[in-house]
Amino acid sequence: MVKETAYYDVLGVKPDANADELKKAYRKLALKYHPDKNPNEGEKFKQISQAYEVLSDSKKRELYDRGGEQAIKDGGTGGSSFGSPMDIFDMFFGGGGRMHRERRGKNVIHQLSVTLEDLYNGCTRKLALQKNVICEKCEGRGGRKGAVECCPSCRGTGMQVRIHQIGPGMVQQIQSICTGCHGQGQRINPKDKCKTCNARKIVREKKILEVNIDKGMKDGQKITFAGEGDQEPGLEPGDIIIVLDQKEHPVYTRQEEDLLMQMDIQLVESLCGFKKLITTLDNRTLVITSHPGQAIKPGELKCLLNEGMPTYRRPYEKGRLIIQFKVVFPEENFVPLDKLKQLEKLLPKRQKTESIEDVEIMEEADLEDCDMSQERRRQYNGEAYHDDNDSRQRGVQCQTS
Ligand SMILES: [Zn+2]
Ligand SMILES: [Zn+2]
Repeated sequence: MVKETAYYDVLGVKPDANADELKKAYRKLALKYHPDKNPNEGEKFKQISQAYEVLSDSKKRELYDRGGEQAIKDGGTGGSSFGSPMDIFDMFFGGGGRMHRERRGKNVIHQLSVTLEDLYNGCTRKLALQKNVICEKCEGRGGRKGAVECCPSCRGTGMQVRIHQIGPGMVQQIQSICTGCHGQGQRINPKDKCKTCNARKIVREKKILEVNIDKGMKDGQKITFAGEGDQEPGLEPGDIIIVLDQKEHPVYTRQEEDLLMQMDIQLVESLCGFKKLITTLDNRTLVITSHPGQAIKPGELKCLLNEGMPTYRRPYEKGRLIIQFKVVFPEENFVPLDKLKQLEKLLPKRQKTESIEDVEIMEEADLEDCDMSQERRRQYNGEAYHDDNDSRQRGVQCQTS
């Protein structure tokens, strides 16, 4: 049981979320609230980043689960302070860190929504986006050749220094960015300004990117277009990074290279065999057969080899398609009571445990319908809830039939 859930709530995950779920939640939210996309949500961006910083570190997460936010602030790990949200973002998306950034322009990150079919079959997607490019007309000078002059207000330093008298014989120097040139150190005579870029040296341009999605790529995988980021005079352009975001599939769930699906079968099918159709992600139809006598049990797993996801860069190697069977039992009184005797004759014999005659004192107890959802709500975060999720995280084991 965790002390607080605020960090989990910020990321929109449950307190028992695993590392992958945390990554995915951070990825989606950080891209959504990044100041480039959402300049007014700086505070939210910071909260997401702090929550992820703590929860992605197993030591800090343990500390938080035990002692809440206060424990993190007290710094059980030796005066821990939060990293800058931008650095965490860059680290996560491979932005290259601060040293790199000084010589290079910013990386631009876009999310691309894809289906499981796209990732199975591979495809090419065209993505239209806007980017800054150096103005061709003035070659990034902002004006006519020779029109650029040193800013007279700051003499080219880009900074203004004001002297404040704060007492007799005491002065204070205040440095600020030059308002005459906005810190550029140079200015252009208005009549010589480039009309195409209005002396901004860059223009917005529409760019179509062709994104090749290879077979077997995964949710969250990055595709980098080196040097295609925003251009800025004097800087090497950064990259455009496309992050794949897989939509949920109505039938299949991916588990690494395996695909998992649920299938409902009737009790009669589980006992007497069946044939069922499965549509694959490349639109083939498979017929699966359970032979009479095979008796598929509720929750049983079977798999088809080589019908899972293709492996990235080795697309001919595929994972398994794992089918989990749910046996649908007949409704009450599906057969007249006298016929039940005939059915019982065919079924395996009852196991005798205690014979009723041997017990001396007993009470009659009636079986009532039980609504588990009520019970469950009370036990939220309790044992029952945890057990459920653990088995899902462990992944399913597969039997070949
Ligand atoms: Zn220009
Ligand atoms: Zn200036």
